[in-house]
Amino acid sequence: MIRSTSHPAKKTATILGAAAVALSLTFPAAAQTDDFATWLDGLRTEARDRGVTAPTIEAALGDLKPVPRVLELDRHQPEFTQTFWTYLGKRVSEKRVIRGRELLKKHAKLLARVEKKYGVQPRFLVAFWGLESNFGDYTGVFPLFGALATLAHDARRADFFRAQLLAALKLMDKGDVTAATKASWAGAMGQCQFIPTTHIDNAVDYDGDGKRDFWNSLPDIFASAANYLSRTGWQGNRTWGREVKLPKDFDLELAGMGKSMRKPLAEWQKLGVRKVGGGNLPNVDIEGAVILPAGRHGPAFMVYKNYRSIMIWNRSILYAIAVGHLADRLVGQGPFKTPRPAKEVALSRADVQEMQRILTRLGHDTEGADGVVGRNTRKAIKAYQRANHLPPDGYPSFGLLERLRGKAAKSDG
Ligand code: CA
Repeated sequence: MIRSTSHPAKKTATILGAAAVALSLTFPAAAQTDDFATWLDGLRTEARDRGVTAPTIEAALGDLKPVPRVLELDRHQPEFTQTFWTYLGKRVSEKRVIRGRELLKKHAKLLARVEKKYGVQPRFLVAFWGLESNFGDYTGVFPLFGALATLAHDARRADFFRAQLLAALKLMDKGDVTAATKASWAGAMGQCQFIPTTHIDNAVDYDGDGKRDFWNSLPDIFASAANYLSRTGWQGNRTWGREVKLPKDFDLELAGMGKSMRKPLAEWQKLGVRKVGGGNLPNVDIEGAVILPAGRHGPAFMVYKNYRSIMIWNRSILYAIAVGHLADRLVGQGPFKTPRPAKEVALSRADVQEMQRILTRLGHDTEGADGVVGRNTRKAIKAYQRANHLPPDGYPSFGLLERLRGKAAKSDG
């Protein structure tokens, strides 16, 4: 799915799962205590004030009902966090690689035309397509307007979804969607799962039939994805990154995605970083950052500018690696060289919450204990590791949790 930025070049919060560019307008939150019918009246008025036509308002919002299942899905939180290997294994399966290779061949001509116009390589377009909807198999079964209205009426992310709903109404005025359009439970649409605001700003009518058809027209789908990526600064002559081999004495403080962590490849080469097979890094004048998504015992990656573009589409480190890796696999590269560990421990949500509470108590604030490993938690882990002379990879391993439990017990005693 797609996420939210006010402009492709400007990162803001990631919201959902689709290439989203949020409206630059801000939408005042409606009184969330209103019952749905009263709330809907207010929304109709706002839509009218924003220039949505009366027939669209009537058809899309006429007898709209909330969809309880959408709220259930919004509240659902998986019990276990996904490990790097589980996540990648599911998303870049052999089956998907084989089918993606066939589709890359089948649509080669169209993809080459799109590449020429927007500068995004076919293998990446097919990789996004595969991850977002399994090449068009799953585009969502929820009523677009019903799902968005349910979430816009709900208090949790009301402003965001109100903006999506108003954007969807505008799309209906343009003829891109109808009152019967189906989407994901969170309003992500079509084979690339754009949310309405992303669709408004980036979708392209590439086959020239007057509609931007995200469900049925592969020319529109590929061109829209490519247009969006090109606006994030995609480099059509570069790849996303690569698996690398770090020297034994690699300073883990040099790993990370921050701007200050980027260095020219020549500098990484001097620091002993090599291609995963042992060869020298490419002799090109570009910057890269080293990331360790599975901690210091997992694979290391050198990532380039296109990796950051993928993160604008979906601000998830694992998603971005999955897109890049699938794209590589589609053109014949093999699986990761770093072996999957024989035994992997997936932390439960409760484990992560416990880790967050102990870290905070020990003076490394995780800014809440939500059970989700985000930037603040990784930062707190790194700080703890530094303070305790442990290799600072910022990774929430089971070993770390056990160590923290021991500390907590001691400080209680
Ligand atoms: Ca079209």
